[in-house]
Amino acid sequence: MTTRVLLATRNSKKLAELRRILDAASDLGQVELVGLAEVPAFPELPETGLTFEENALIKAREAARCTGLVAVADDSGLAVDVLGGMPGVFSARWAGKHGDDLANLELLLGQLADVPDAHLTAAFVCAAVVVLPDGRERTVHGSMPGRLVRTPRGTRGFGYDPIFAAQGHTRTNAELTVPEKDAISHRGQAFRELARTLAQLLG
Ligand code: IMP
Repeated sequence: MTTRVLLATRNSKKLAELRRILDAASDLGQVELVGLAEVPAFPELPETGLTFEENALIKAREAARCTGLVAVADDSGLAVDVLGGMPGVFSARWAGKHGDDLANLELLLGQLADVPDAHLTAAFVCAAVVVLPDGRERTVHGSMPGRLVRTPRGTRGFGYDPIFAAQGHTRTNAELTVPEKDAISHRGQAFRELARTLAQLLG
């Protein structure tokens, strides 16, 4: 039997990434992954949580409630140690306007201008959740530790990728290939764990 699973996102890249990971999960029966664009529209709630997990749960609970489908959602961002974990849940709107990647990155670099190199440690963090229509919920996490660089490098990826080099890498995330980043990224880790969790719940 095929289970329809809704990923509560309009981001086609996230949908494709989770689809690749679910396809590779051999112990997971037949799953048809769909995005918000493929189900009847419902009003989406603002992401008002103070943690990635809360925000992911807001999205997945509402999606499960409104559609009756198994719903998954994720939320992620950059946590800079010297800033006490910020931009954190405000990563997408650090400079004020949602999704202005360049302004966000430039503001962050400005804030860190006087911080010694040794304190430029940071991590990308992701929480992914699954919510079943019967109310069961599971949360998984992924994290990619590394350091910030002061001069953006690379053209791939998005967000803060040009100023972040993962632990053990000299290239920034924006200089890694997509498979290289998927293999170590916070979202890749969380999505792979989510596939295992889905297999247990639906198996
Ligand atoms: P989202 O909510 O998971 O879409 O991510 C929120 C924000 O976190 C994005 O707009 C980016 O600023 C930042 N972010 C999350 N994941 C990444 C990543 O893999 N690379 C660069 N920036 C990221």
